[in-house]
Amino acid sequence: MDLFIKNISRLYTPRVADSEDISRPVMDISDAAIFISQGRIEAVGTEKEIASLVPEKVPVLDAQQRVALPGFVDCHAHPVFAGERSHEFHKRNAGATYLQIAKEGGGIASSAQALKNASVEALVQETLPRLNRFLLSGTTTLEAKSGYGLEWEQERKQLAAIDELNKKHPIELIPTYLVHSIPASRKNDREAFIDEVCETMLPEVARNHLAQAVDIFCEEGVFSEEESRKILLRAKQLGFDIKLHANQFGHSGGARLAAELGAVSADHLEHLNDKEIDALIENKVTCVLLPACVFFLGDLPYPPARKLIERGARVAIATDMNPGSSMTESLPLAMTIAAIYCHMTPAELLWAATFDAARALKRETSIGSLEVGKEGNVTLWDIPHLRYLSYHFGNTFLTDAVISGQVVVANGQLSDES
Ligand SMILES: [Zn+2]
Repeated sequence: MDLFIKNISRLYTPRVADSEDISRPVMDISDAAIFISQGRIEAVGTEKEIASLVPEKVPVLDAQQRVALPGFVDCHAHPVFAGERSHEFHKRNAGATYLQIAKEGGGIASSAQALKNASVEALVQETLPRLNRFLLSGTTTLEAKSGYGLEWEQERKQLAAIDELNKKHPIELIPTYLVHSIPASRKNDREAFIDEVCETMLPEVARNHLAQAVDIFCEEGVFSEEESRKILLRAKQLGFDIKLHANQFGHSGGARLAAELGAVSADHLEHLNDKEIDALIENKVTCVLLPACVFFLGDLPYPPARKLIERGARVAIATDMNPGSSMTESLPLAMTIAAIYCHMTPAELLWAATFDAARALKRETSIGSLEVGKEGNVTLWDIPHLRYLSYHFGNTFLTDAVISGQVVVANGQLSDES
């Protein structure tokens, strides 16, 4: 699609001159415009500079003096699930812990049961409104993890729903196969289950191109460091990128393992020591922080974002959208929480929700900034400047969203095709 977006009051984008530059410079252009040709950015700059480059018949989107940002990349989410778990939320608020609820058959096990009872079509229908909310919050690329199936037949169903949603909805979904926990029925033969993951499930996912990355929940009481290593080494051998849910509830060994195996990302990281931080930086692992999850669970420390940033880590933030520990589609909300509790600056938040998030999905050459040659994924916001975005929280100020040059949200409304 071709599109000329003009009359932009301010355009902000990570300035990515050098992918190893972690000083997080932000390009800020007043009276800006963007020319998208065949879905990709052909020119970006002041309107004065680029208007003459745009052929006459190209459709025009008048930004009406709004702020333009790159489409957000939500690089850690579990958006496909059945049912909801509001009762657990209130149980936790009355004093139960997340791990206690899991032990009583709630948590992942209850989502697994609900998924088992749902068809692919039902999952698709339940997820579509969520994807609309992601889009209306500014997300144009979204990671979608499996992991509520647990058993292979159910995992395959969840991956089929992700595939179907990718065809039906303008947001680009990037599927990840998540080894989330041992199914209740296999608790007594975990070794056999892990062998099945390595020898049956992962090869099936690879053969059918159902996921780009493999992720594992490396945490005490879920998968040990040793079990995670075994599964992830097999995943690497099969050509998958690897990711870990690491160091959420304690020093699980996940961060260390992410560094050792060269994972694309280590996610959560609420508990990190200096040695683990150095190892993540040295091995260029993107640290994906999930501040909305910490906020929602209420009793965990926030990850040491300042330390990570000041030492030179790649830091992304994501929603972790899921029914148990982070029931929100809003990256702007996660950014506000990160501003308050992780002490991140507006420039750091922008990088974390765009370019560094794209790195966590190995997509930084095609998305995550508004630069010539990149995908034409642009969002327009009714805000005066970038720092306002995380400041005025709880509402969406998004007015328009463009994916690959196609207008998918106009004046706050989803376009018909959406
Ligand atoms: Zn997660």
